[in-house]
Amino acid sequence: LESNDVEITGVEHKLGLRGQATCALSVGDNDDCRAYLLGRNPLENDGKGDGMKIMFNMMNSARIGVGLQSAAMAANAMYNARDYAYERVQGRNTKGKRIPIIEHADIKRSLLHQKACVEAFRAMNYKGNYYVDINKHHPDPEVRKKADSTVQMLTPLCKGYCSEELWNLVSEAIQIFGGYGFCEDYPVARIARDCKVLSIYEGTNYIQSMDLIGRKMTMEKGVPFQEFIKDIADFIEANQASEGFAKEFEIMAEALNAFKRILKVVKQYLSERNMDMISVFSKRILMATAQLFAGRCILDQALLADKKIKELGKEHYDYNFYIGKVASARYFVRNIVPNIFSIATIVEGADTTVLDIPLEAFDY
Ligand SMILES: Cc1cc2nc3c(=O)[nH]c(=O)nc-3n(C[C@H](O)[C@H](O)[C@H](O)COP(=O)(O)OP(=O)(O)OC[C@H]3O[C@@H](n4cnc5c(N)ncnc54)[C@H](O)[C@@H]3O)c2cc1C
Repeated sequence: LESNDVEITGVEHKLGLRGQATCALSVGDNDDCRAYLLGRNPLENDGKGDGMKIMFNMMNSARIGVGLQSAAMAANAMYNARDYAYERVQGRNTKGKRIPIIEHADIKRSLLHQKACVEAFRAMNYKGNYYVDINKHHPDPEVRKKADSTVQMLTPLCKGYCSEELWNLVSEAIQIFGGYGFCEDYPVARIARDCKVLSIYEGTNYIQSMDLIGRKMTMEKGVPFQEFIKDIADFIEANQASEGFAKEFEIMAEALNAFKRILKVVKQYLSERNMDMISVFSKRILMATAQLFAGRCILDQALLADKKIKELGKEHYDYNFYIGKVASARYFVRNIVPNIFSIATIVEGADTTVLDIPLEAFDY
């Protein structure tokens, strides 16, 4: 392309990523453009080519990348909010002493909510990236193939859930800044602008949810998805007697049962080819699936952290790191995983209001 053929528009008109020259590229308008065919020629293979398959190799790692980027942005907002919460003195404790806001229970709740989600995002994304590595580098082709299926399974969860929740987490961080959060003195407003695109690009999160239900749950006759569920069930069974974690495993077991109720409804809609009802619930089902998986991943880390706490003792420099890990997992499982119960009730309720409401009703 000659530089004067390129018209850059839109750079000044977007919500975030102001340092990035986002533009709409229109290729081939002058009928003077070349393309290269990747893989088999569909004209010579009964209309079957390899383009989508090859594109998805790139797409899966890009999407898992968005999951990790979501964890990074949420962490950035959280650490900024934490630093501000130490500085800002406002209100008093029960003894009448003026205190930094980090000592108020609601601020601690908000920070712990952010920390638990950030650590859950990291845990699930590290798992996804672990299988990306196995898929690329393991010498055994069978193991590589299995890892590929796992990556495909985990991709919409890492991308869709983390980027969807990110927006709410940055909102929590901004809230901690009070009025300052609404100004430009601190980076959180910028993070809010930048982070929104994560739920949009690399396939919007609705598309991720349809990918999960329409493709990933059923691919290879449903075997990778069954293995995904079995892994969670096995994890619960193997660890439910762990000392100090009875409540967490009880919630995880209940959540798994609730999730199976959701799957029963999904199966019925799929067998009836009732894609409208699948669409109505798909994003919420994606969230429930990811919350179940994230609960499993973060609880796994907590068990190891608990062991380390006992081994290392209070004086060790990593003690509070491990204490934080256990607290994050407890919070996540007790406060976020139970969302799956309400999603199960909603899905079973089969409410059709979304489909029934006439478009004209949106006039008001
Ligand atoms: C900052 C930025 C950088 C980008 N970088 C790149 C890039 O490098 N390369 C590239 O190729 N693209 C890039 N994109 C494009 C991006 O991937 C698309 O914007 C995104 O996939 C959504 O597509 P769309 O904008 O056409 O939205 P639309 O497809 O018009 O979607 C609009 C809304 O309708 C919903 N929707 C669409 N279809 C359906 C359906 N069938 N059923 C229900 N709901 C539906 C969507 O979920 C969404 O909420 C970039 C976009 C941005 C904002």
